[in-house]
Amino acid sequence: MAAMSTAVKVQEVRDVTRIERIGAHSHIRGLGLDDSCDPKSVSEGMVGQQKARKAAGVVAEMIREGKIAGRAILLAGAPGTGKTAIAMGIARSLGSDTAFTSMSGSEIYSLEMSKTEALTQAIRRSIGVRIKEETEVVEGEVVEIQVERPASGVGSKSGKLTLKTTDMETIYDLGSKMIESLMKEKVRSGDIIVIDKATGKISKLGRSFTRARDYDATGAQTKFVQCPEGELQKRKEVVHTVSLHEIDVINSRAQGFLALFSGDTGEIKSEVRDQINCKVVEWREEGKAEVVPGVLFIDEVHMLDVESFSFLNRALENEMAPVVIMATNRGITKIRGTNFKAPHGIPIDLLDRSIIIPTQPYTEAELSDIIKIRCEEEDCDMQPDALTILTKIAQETSLRYSIQLITTASVVAKRRKSTQVSVEDIKKVYTLFLDEKRSQQFLKEYQDQFMF
Ligand code: ATP
Repeated sequence: MAAMSTAVKVQEVRDVTRIERIGAHSHIRGLGLDDSCDPKSVSEGMVGQQKARKAAGVVAEMIREGKIAGRAILLAGAPGTGKTAIAMGIARSLGSDTAFTSMSGSEIYSLEMSKTEALTQAIRRSIGVRIKEETEVVEGEVVEIQVERPASGVGSKSGKLTLKTTDMETIYDLGSKMIESLMKEKVRSGDIIVIDKATGKISKLGRSFTRARDYDATGAQTKFVQCPEGELQKRKEVVHTVSLHEIDVINSRAQGFLALFSGDTGEIKSEVRDQINCKVVEWREEGKAEVVPGVLFIDEVHMLDVESFSFLNRALENEMAPVVIMATNRGITKIRGTNFKAPHGIPIDLLDRSIIIPTQPYTEAELSDIIKIRCEEEDCDMQPDALTILTKIAQETSLRYSIQLITTASVVAKRRKSTQVSVEDIKKVYTLFLDEKRSQQFLKEYQDQFMF
């Protein structure tokens, strides 16, 4: 049964990965800059927004050189001008070893934990600890996992783990004794793993649990590493990157490490965190570990209240603080929890330590390019005049709405057994699904029929 249910879970994971690959920003693979940090007009899924991309490139460079910890970046601009896309581009350009946590300002209001605890967890998720270990290991990337139920029957833990590398299509059968380790570590397609040949123990490498979640949330595609033919690669030194939050959870008796998988970590005692901080400092002094500040992205930052802002301001002063990238589409507005107005609803002292990157509205040609890229990403073949209509809709409603129409119009086209999306398909979905303006209009006209 165990082997069977693992097989089912693995299948589920594959399906989820496929669905998430077409997430809203899955086409963003970097900032699309050339060697001298200048933005190419269309590159790595990025279109236009040249000034903001160049500024973001400078920020990424500062993060790489470790010169920006403790500062904040604010992406400010109208809805749909690519603020999230640019934050994603920064994260992608930093490489997979930099912790990147993404949250929305409103996420801190939960019944399970205080606002400051939610922020602390987000901050500690964004700080990586690179731990070095000396050991004799083999390394490869799990591209496909097959767990076969043994003929001997249900309930047995034996089975077969197949490790495939994409470049050579080499298949390694790792035998039945590793299956327990496989299940314990929850190894999935796309994970980079390390296998201790002597004990059969499997551990994950280079893709922390947090990263795995962010990866999935952003729909990133699986990256493959070269795995040599024949023998798996032998390595003396293994480096694991985990986040401070993961170390907190693993060491928190109340939670236990399983909480990492459910995401339900609850509040963590401050004594646990103090101990971990001391331990990490010790490891660092002994040369066993390195602290790598990552990126915390807070979308809709105006949803934070004045207490959270002052907490964030203080947290930024900590030596291990991550880079905080905030985004807002608000102008001068009230700081939540006060009667005072401030630019972007952010207190002046935090604004003062922030680097502000404005984003500009797109031109018609840029909108058309973004829609084209999304069509490619979603495997949607769109007729040129349908693309023109969709670009007009993006100008008159919003870019996000017209991007959503790509998927819905493809479904409609498929229904009439066509491989191409036509103007008619776009017209149909435009009347079926309302954009924000028409939805408001509709509510005004029919408000008597709604419950309030
Ligand atoms: P909001 O203020 O509503 O949160 P936003 O400024 O964060 O909006 P995004 O969500 O980044 O806007 O953009 C909307 C969609 O357009 C996303 O799918 C995004 O990936 C895509 N997009 C935006 N700008 C660009 C760009 N310059 N290049 C490629 N794709 C982009």
